[in-house]
Amino acid sequence: MTTDSFRTDTRDWLEANCPASMRTPMPADEMSGGGRRARYKNPDTLLWLNLMAAKGFTAPTWPKEYGGAGLGPTENQILREEMTRINARPALAGMGLSMIGPALLEYGSDEQRAEHLPKIASGEIWWCQGYSEPNAGSDLASLQTKAVVDGDDYIINGQKVWTSGADKADWIFCLVRTDVEAPKHNGITFILFDMTTPGVTVKPIKLISGLSPFCETFFEDVRAPRKNVIGTVNDGWTVAKRLLQYERTMIGGGTGGGQRGKSLAEIALEYIGREVGQADGRLADQALRTDLINHSMNDRAFGLTVRRSSDESKTNTAPSFVSSMFKYYGTEQNIKRFELMQRAMGSQMLGWEGEGFAEDELTQTRAWLRSKANSIEGGTSEVQLNIIAKRVLGLPD
Ligand SMILES: Cc1cc2nc3c(=O)[nH]c(=O)nc-3n(C[C@H](O)[C@H](O)[C@H](O)COP(=O)(O)OP(=O)(O)OC[C@H]3O[C@@H](n4cnc5c(N)ncnc54)[C@H](O)[C@@H]3O)c2cc1C
Repeated sequence: MTTDSFRTDTRDWLEANCPASMRTPMPADEMSGGGRRARYKNPDTLLWLNLMAAKGFTAPTWPKEYGGAGLGPTENQILREEMTRINARPALAGMGLSMIGPALLEYGSDEQRAEHLPKIASGEIWWCQGYSEPNAGSDLASLQTKAVVDGDDYIINGQKVWTSGADKADWIFCLVRTDVEAPKHNGITFILFDMTTPGVTVKPIKLISGLSPFCETFFEDVRAPRKNVIGTVNDGWTVAKRLLQYERTMIGGGTGGGQRGKSLAEIALEYIGREVGQADGRLADQALRTDLINHSMNDRAFGLTVRRSSDESKTNTAPSFVSSMFKYYGTEQNIKRFELMQRAMGSQMLGWEGEGFAEDELTQTRAWLRSKANSIEGGTSEVQLNIIAKRVLGLPD
C-alpha cells in the first residue's frame, strides 16, 4: 500500500469509527489505561478502545501477531497526524504500552511475548512498575527487595514505594535482588507477577490533594514463577535501563502525537486580550508575548529534533541514552508551559474548588501542580544531566 492510500484509508476509518465524544479534550478521569478493574465513566471510551485495539492501532508499530498493526515509522507518523487532525483521544495509555510492552518485544522470549503483548494491546491488563524503594530512588541499583529460588518459583520479600497505580494494576514488572554478594548492578533480576498473588499488599499514599496516584507495595513470601524472569537472571539491570529509556522518551513527549489542546497563545488572548487599536491583534502584554514566542519556537525545535532522532534510528522503537535529553528538555518545557499559562490566567489558575472558577480552570490548576512531578518521575532532572554528561557527552565520572 502506498503512503497516500494508507493516509486515505486511515482518514476514512477514523472518520467512520471515532465517536464524537472521543474528539473532545480528555478529562484526566477519562484516560483509558485498561485493566481488569477499569470502570468507564464514558461508555465511548471503551467502545473507542475496542475499535482501535481490533484494528491494531493501540500499539500501531507492534507486529500483528501481538495485537499491533505492524506499521513502519512513516505509516505510524501518518496515523498520529490523522488522529491529531480530528483531535482524537488516544484510545489506550499506560506502562503496558509504553514501557513493559517495548521491553518485552526486545528482551522477552517468544512465549512471554505471546502471553503478555496481546493483553496489553487490547487493554485487558494494566501494569505497574516496581522499581523505587524507600532507600533506592536515584540510586536504584541499591534496591533490597530479595528473591530466592524455591523449586520452579522465586519467593519475594521486600517493599517498593511510589508504585503508580498499584492499587488498580493487574500485573507488576519488578526489580528484585537475586545475588546479594555480587556488585550491586550485577545481582538484580527483572521479573513479572500477578498483583493478586498471595503476599502482595498495596497501601495507597494519600496526597494533600486527596488523590492517591501512587502506593507503597509490600511483598511477603510472594511466589513468582521462574519462567517470568525477563532476560537473564542477575542481569535485570540491562532490561531495567532499557525500560527506563522507553519511560523517559514517553515522559519527555518523545513518542509524539497527542491531542491538540488550546495553544498558550489562545489561552493568553482569552484572559489578557489584544492591544487596543492594533490591527494585527497582538497580545496586550509584551513581556509575556516574547516569552510565549520563545517557548513556542523551542517546542517546535524540540518536536523536530525528536522526529529527526527517530528518523535517524530508523526503528522508531529503541531509544538510547538520548532519551535522557528528551526527558530532561521535554519535562522542563512542560513545566515552563504551565508557568506561562499561570501568568496568562492569573488568579483564575489558582482555584482549588468552589464557585468563581470554570471546570477547565480547576483542571489547569491541578495539571500545573502535577507538572512539578515531571522533573522527578522516571529519574530526576539532575540524574538525567548526569547521564547526558557521562553517556552522551563522554565527560569523565
Ligand atoms: C509522579 C511520580 C510517579 C512515580 N511512579 C513510580 C512508579 O510507578 N514506580 C516506581 O518504581 N517509582 C516511581 N516514582 C519514583 C521515582 O522514580 C523516584 O521518585 C525518582 O527516581 C527519584 O528518587 P527519590 O524520590 O528516591 O529521590 P532521591 O533519589 O532521594 O533524590 C533526592 C534529590 O537528590 C538529587 N540527587 C540524587 N542523586 C543525585 C546525584 N547522583 N546527582 C545529583 N543529584 C542527585 C535528586 O535529583 C533529587 O533532587 C514516581 C515518582 C513520581 C514523582
